[in-house]
Amino acid sequence: GNLIGEDHANYVLMYNMLTGIRIGVSRCQAKLRKPLSDADFKAKHKFSFDIIGNELTPSAKYDFKFKDYAPWVFRSLRDDYFHLDPADYLLSLTAKYILTELGSPGKSGSFFYFSRDFKYIIKTVSHTEHKFLRSILKDYYNHVKSNPHTLLSRFYGLHRVKLPRGRKIHFVIMNNLFPPHRDIHETYDLKGSAIGREYPEEKAREKPGAVLKDKNWVNRHRSLELGPEKRALFLTQLQRDTMLLQKLGIMDYSLLLGIHDMTRGNSEGRRKETLKVYQPQLEEPVPEDQPLNTGSTSIQRRMSSAIHRGEGRNVRMSIKRTEPKNLDKDPTRALNNADIAERRHFWFYQDEGGYRATDDNNEDLNMIYYLGVIDICTPYNFVKRIEHRWKSLTHESQMISAVPAQQYGDRFIQFMKSIVRGADLTQRPKME
Ligand code: ATP
Ligand code: CA
Ligand code: CA
Repeated sequence: GNLIGEDHANYVLMYNMLTGIRIGVSRCQAKLRKPLSDADFKAKHKFSFDIIGNELTPSAKYDFKFKDYAPWVFRSLRDDYFHLDPADYLLSLTAKYILTELGSPGKSGSFFYFSRDFKYIIKTVSHTEHKFLRSILKDYYNHVKSNPHTLLSRFYGLHRVKLPRGRKIHFVIMNNLFPPHRDIHETYDLKGSAIGREYPEEKAREKPGAVLKDKNWVNRHRSLELGPEKRALFLTQLQRDTMLLQKLGIMDYSLLLGIHDMTRGNSEGRRKETLKVYQPQLEEPVPEDQPLNTGSTSIQRRMSSAIHRGEGRNVRMSIKRTEPKNLDKDPTRALNNADIAERRHFWFYQDEGGYRATDDNNEDLNMIYYLGVIDICTPYNFVKRIEHRWKSLTHESQMISAVPAQQYGDRFIQFMKSIVRGADLTQRPKME
């Protein structure tokens, strides 16, 4: 990939996002914990940055405003349910201003950026998606609380940057489902629908990292190799997650699935070579690569060093452009496995950060699945507003929005049941 510096079109936006996170999140994190109240779900904290700075916000390179939405709720999600180390979170995102931009973003126009160590994804969202996420935040929170093994996207933060000329950009921070330390040999984005759900096979042969879809899965005769135990865990959790999405009227989500074939392994040799070439681009090593000492004083110290890093000096940031899924060849990709530790809490992320395939006797097979339900901020009435506008003239809008979400979820679950090995293929939805 080619490094793009301050001349990159989104350089200022990136700088502002990371500065906002660095100051906003650490402010909240430094306060004493308190039980959540209803008001915390609606809360927004405002920060105003300028080149001079004041007692609340340090000086920044640019003038901009930053909003942190429901900071206490996201703090609780991160600390209590997603088991993130508070210092690591800030360090991963902001210790150095380095982000990798995912090449061709989805149709929605959202932009995706990976944190320097590829643990986190920043996704820009539309104003509507942002408003919707805030409106369902309490349901989402309660679901995560009662479903510690949820497969739904893990939201770690919701923020907004406002540039001086008035442009407002909302973004979420979430988990990268794919591991920094393993090659993904095949990727699928599955919805259980056939319409437009095929990546051209001839193009896929030239581009091994392409995100394949439902029809490719069926045509390639793939199946999820899960023994009885893991199959039951997976399908039960997926059903519970889908029921929530149905209840909230959400559609258009998908199961993102990355397959690592352990017999093929990683392209380690090649990566080491490129790493050498790129070494001068990397800055000095960062403390979080050291063994974790979770004592609170250590966290405090590391957090305050994260906060002060970059303050008062010229922060260097680079944005790197890469093709989607070609991360395997990315030399800046973190090579240490320390971050896998925090994923041990979760059934579906406990085998090297993923879910290992098993046979009928629940014995391990040589494949690791990296999976989760993504793109869960689209309510029916928003996606289909245009196509189905005529319907709302004759029906009550509540009714039309509820029914399709129900159908979408039923079809989704039916397809997911059909992709697991041993499933009754006659139950597979028609791929017309
Ligand atoms: P559209 O609405 O057109 O589907 P979008 O902009 O809402 O697009 P998503 O569906 O959220 O985008 O994601 C697009 C792609 O980005 C996915 O197919 C996947 O390759 C990658 N991606 C999204 N979320 C994650 C994640 N949490 N971990 C890893 N990759 C992800
Ligand atoms: Ca999508
Ligand atoms: Ca979307």
